Amino acid sequence: MTETDRLRTIAVFCGSSAGNDPVYLEAARHVGTTLAEQGIGVVYGGGHVGLMGAVADSALAAGGHVTGVIPQSLHDREVVNDTVSELFIVDSMHERKLLMAEKSDAFLALPGGPGTLEEITEQWTWAQLGIHQKPCGFLNVAGYYDPLITLVETMRERGFTHPRYTRMLHFSESIEDLLTVFRDYEPPERVQASPGDEMSRATP
Ligand code: AMP
Repeated sequence: MTETDRLRTIAVFCGSSAGNDPVYLEAARHVGTTLAEQGIGVVYGGGHVGLMGAVADSALAAGGHVTGVIPQSLHDREVVNDTVSELFIVDSMHERKLLMAEKSDAFLALPGGPGTLEEITEQWTWAQLGIHQKPCGFLNVAGYYDPLITLVETMRERGFTHPRYTRMLHFSESIEDLLTVFRDYEPPERVQASPGDEMSRATP
């Protein structure tokens, strides 16, 4: 696989709200523009609200390719972004997440609420189980994800995850840095043991 092929599309998970500081919207717009300028397609939840809409609209305005994947229930509530390059309407949230995962080479979380956290955490879990080999990044706008960095460190220290799995996660304030990390990412070698077996042997 060439360097260019390696990072063709990124799934972006982010808030359906915009947060209460303009810094989050600014960051979301910068992400959309940057991905478009680097020729990286965006796969996202297909809505036009909050940071989700800001990422999509900025990417589209910069000439990027944006794929929305939205469940019928949200589409029916007229929250869909009709301006995206392609739109998939699926039956459930589970189908949405699976399709977003299949269509992406990496996963990026911007600030968001429980939906965002659930989506990116699911992808980390799938990476840990070897379901895919793709990296997960967090855009740490204004220290938003600092408490999660601490929690992941605590998980590792207390034997609930292993350094080989925490190395699948990348935190940075800079989208440019995260894209470099994604391009250079080498997934950990698979081991025969299940993640649970391995963690029980891990030394903190
Ligand atoms: P949260 O981070 O809690 O705001 O949740 C973000 C997730 O909520 C999105 O990725 C979607 O799964 C879902 N969601 C909520 N509102 C919308 C919307 N208007 N359009 C699309 N997805 C939405």
